[in-house]
Amino acid sequence: MPAPQRLLTGPGPSNPPPEVTRALAEPMVGHLDPFFTSLMDETMEALRGLFQTTNHHTIPMSATGSAGLETIMLNLLEPGDEAIVGVIGYFGQRLAEMARRAGATVRLVEAPLGEVIDPGRIEEELRRGPARLVALVHAETSTGAWQPVEEIAAIAHEHDALIAIDCVTSLGGVPVEVDAWGIDAAGSCSQKCIGAPPGLGPVTFGPRAMATRAARQHPMTTWYFDLDLLFAYWGDGSGTHTRAFHHTAPVASLYAFHRALQLIHDEGLDERFARHQAAHAHFVSGLDRLGLSLFTPAAHRLPMLNVVNIPDGVDDHRVRSRLLEMGIEIAAGFGPLKGRAWRVGLMGYNADPDRIDVLLGGLEEVLRDERR
Ligand SMILES: *Cc1c(COP(=O)(O)O)cnc(C)c1O
Repeated sequence: MPAPQRLLTGPGPSNPPPEVTRALAEPMVGHLDPFFTSLMDETMEALRGLFQTTNHHTIPMSATGSAGLETIMLNLLEPGDEAIVGVIGYFGQRLAEMARRAGATVRLVEAPLGEVIDPGRIEEELRRGPARLVALVHAETSTGAWQPVEEIAAIAHEHDALIAIDCVTSLGGVPVEVDAWGIDAAGSCSQKCIGAPPGLGPVTFGPRAMATRAARQHPMTTWYFDLDLLFAYWGDGSGTHTRAFHHTAPVASLYAFHRALQLIHDEGLDERFARHQAAHAHFVSGLDRLGLSLFTPAAHRLPMLNVVNIPDGVDDHRVRSRLLEMGIEIAAGFGPLKGRAWRVGLMGYNADPDRIDVLLGGLEEVLRDERR
């Protein structure tokens, strides 16, 4: 069944570059084939580069971004632990729910939609009582807010807590400096700013996180997401090159992911982040011309995820369906923003002025009819 061509300017998946799509069609090999195991090693190394870390324990989980985040919670938390979770939108609530299901008692630090959490509030919460883990969403896809995490990471460490971030939307679009910021664990996805198909969940774990993992009092309750078993397959960093079968790696998905990482490093991280900023600026000036505004305050607005206010008298659903008929996808607002805003992603390959002009042209035409 031939799939339609779409310009994917929602919150993900984004359009993979053609080279990445082509990589999916490379010949199949076994998941322990020497060709494939060297591709695994190269993928780990390229992913370390993107996370800006030397952490050995850096892999794409064979499941989506959510699975990577759940891997973090299930390995670092256990019953009896306390966790502090920053909630600035829907994805923060999800992190909190994952932490609860891992057995932790969760304390929330919340900010209103569109806002970010002041580091002082995390410090206050840590003073009230210690915690094993502080978890935050770096790029909140439901509100377009860009949460600064570096200062909060330092505060967490002063209070002997680990810091984990959801960088599902940010990785590959804005800097995520795992080592420089002191992030202990981070989880992302393949299909947003990395520009590969959905299905993989890149994660990285630093030495403090691995030591916490090793000192667990309770046995792991998950088999698939157990880091010990996973790294017996990916390589535990001990220099022995034995690989124990854990699961059958999604070979074709990893071809595409590996190619996407190569393209990122060929472009250069700084160049790529600048391209996402320039794409955002280009989109915002187009919105100005159309008389549209953004929901998220400029002080902490993400470049790759734009929450656009829906003007009065404009029908949310009709606009999105007409755009889709033109081959352009944008997304509805999330939760309380449904019907009030659209979410427009400018991620990876789509962070490009020509592609954004297609979107702006479509929006202009549809809004002209709406306002008639
Ligand atoms: C997309 C997204 C997720 C979920 O990722 P999946 O790959 O769909 O599982 C989690 N957190 C944030 C912030 C996201 O934007």
